[in-house]
Amino acid sequence: METASNAAAGGELKIIKDATCTFCGCVCDDIDLTVQGDQIIKAKRACVLGNAWFLNHQVENRPSCLVKGKPAPVEFGIKRAAEILSKARYPLIYGLSDTTSESQRVAVSIADWIGGNLDTTTSVCHGPSGMAFQGVGEVTCSLGEVRNRGDMIIFWGANPAESHPRHFTKYSLMPKGMFVPNGRKDRTCVVIDVRKTKSAKAADIFVQLKPRSDFEAAWTLRALAQGIELDPEQVERDTGQPLELWQDLVDRMKAARFGVIFFGMGVTMTRGKHANSEAILALTRDMNQYTRFTCKPNRGHGNVTGADNVVAWRTGFPFGVNLARGYPRFNPGEYTAADVLARGEADAAMIIASDPMANFSEPARQHLSTIPYISFDPKETPTSRSAEVAFTVATYGINVPGTVYRMDDVPIPLRPAFKSPHPSDYDLLVAIEKQVRERKNIQPQEG
Ligand code: SF4
Repeated sequence: METASNAAAGGELKIIKDATCTFCGCVCDDIDLTVQGDQIIKAKRACVLGNAWFLNHQVENRPSCLVKGKPAPVEFGIKRAAEILSKARYPLIYGLSDTTSESQRVAVSIADWIGGNLDTTTSVCHGPSGMAFQGVGEVTCSLGEVRNRGDMIIFWGANPAESHPRHFTKYSLMPKGMFVPNGRKDRTCVVIDVRKTKSAKAADIFVQLKPRSDFEAAWTLRALAQGIELDPEQVERDTGQPLELWQDLVDRMKAARFGVIFFGMGVTMTRGKHANSEAILALTRDMNQYTRFTCKPNRGHGNVTGADNVVAWRTGFPFGVNLARGYPRFNPGEYTAADVLARGEADAAMIIASDPMANFSEPARQHLSTIPYISFDPKETPTSRSAEVAFTVATYGINVPGTVYRMDDVPIPLRPAFKSPHPSDYDLLVAIEKQVRERKNIQPQEG
C-alpha cells in the first residue's frame, strides 16, 4: 500500500448508475459513470464542474505515507500520528468538509479523547450562519420541496449559475414540480447582489445592492413586512435602491405561495457577517405570518453540511469547539482554527481534507509550519508538503463509499467507481483513534 499503482491500461468497461458527485453542495446523485480500469471516461448528467471532478480524477502516483517528507510504511505513519496527538497539550483538528460523515465522526472522537480543539472549514464560509441559527433558528425545507413547491426563489449574495451549475435545473428554477407544473413560468426569481453575476442574468428581478449593505437591506424588508413607515431618502442612501423597489419585493414575497431565500458567502463574509445571516433568517420567520417562506445557506464543499451535522450531533455545536476541559465549549473567534493558529496556541494539528497552508493568514500559516501536524489529502498540497506525517488517501465518492449531506441536510449515500491503492481516511482515522485510546489508557466501550 505504500506506493500507488499506475493507472490500469484499458480494462473492462463498467457503468456505475446513480453515482454521487461531491464537488459542490448540490451533491447530485443521478450521475451515470462509465469507468475503464481506474479512469472515469464519461459522467452522464454531470455539469461542467462535475465532469472536471470525475474525468480529471487520477490516482496519485505517490507514497500513501510520508513522514518528514520521506516514504514510510502506513503503519509507522499511524503510530507517529497517534504519538503526536497523544502528547500534545493543545492539539487542533481541522478541515473535514471534503470527506465522508463516517470519517468526520471518527475525527470528532479523536478530538474528544485528546481534549482537542475541533474546527471545520465552515468557520471560513458559513460559520456566521451557524452562529445565527443558534440565535434565531432556521425555517427550513428540503430541495425537493423547493423543486415541487417553490414559486418565489430569492438568491442573496449567491451565484449558483457558476458555483452550483445544476442548482437551477435540478432544484430551484427550471423543474416542473407538483405545485409548479409549468416550471420556470410558475416561478419568480430574484437575485440580490452587489454585482450583476451570471445568476442575475437568469433572474426576473435583479436588485443591485450598495456594497456592504446586506444588513440594512434585510432590515428594510423586515420593517416593510411589519408595515413600518420608512424614510425613502434614508433607505436609498443605506441600500442603494429606492423604497418603492423594496416595497414591491415585500409585496411579491407576501403574495408567494412558497418562497425560499438561498443565501451565500456574499452575505456571510461581508460587513455584518452573522448579523446579516440573522437578519435574513428573521425576515424568513417574519414572512411566515403571511405565507410559507423558508431559507437555506447555499453550501459549497461536497460534505461541509455533513461536517456541521456530525460536529453538532457529537458536541452540540457546529464548528469552533474546544474539548480541553472534557466538555464542549463553543466560541468562534477563540476556538476557530485560523484564530487558534494565528495566536500561536496549538502545539500539534491534524488537518483532514483541507488546505490551510494555501488560504489561512500569514501568522496562522507561519505557526502551523512550526508545529508537528498530520495531513490527509488525495493530492499533494501546500499543507501536505509541510506535514510531519502526510497521508495520501483515496478520494471520497470516487474510491470510497460512505455518506455525505446535501446542502439541505439530506444524507446521500456514495457509490464509488473503483478502488484506490491508497487507504481511505476513514481506515486511517480508525487506526489512529485505536492507538490514541491505548496511549491514553482509555478502555474499550462495552457493547
Ligand atoms: S451541480 Fe455540483 S454536485 Fe451537481 S454535478 Fe455539478 S458540481 Fe457535481
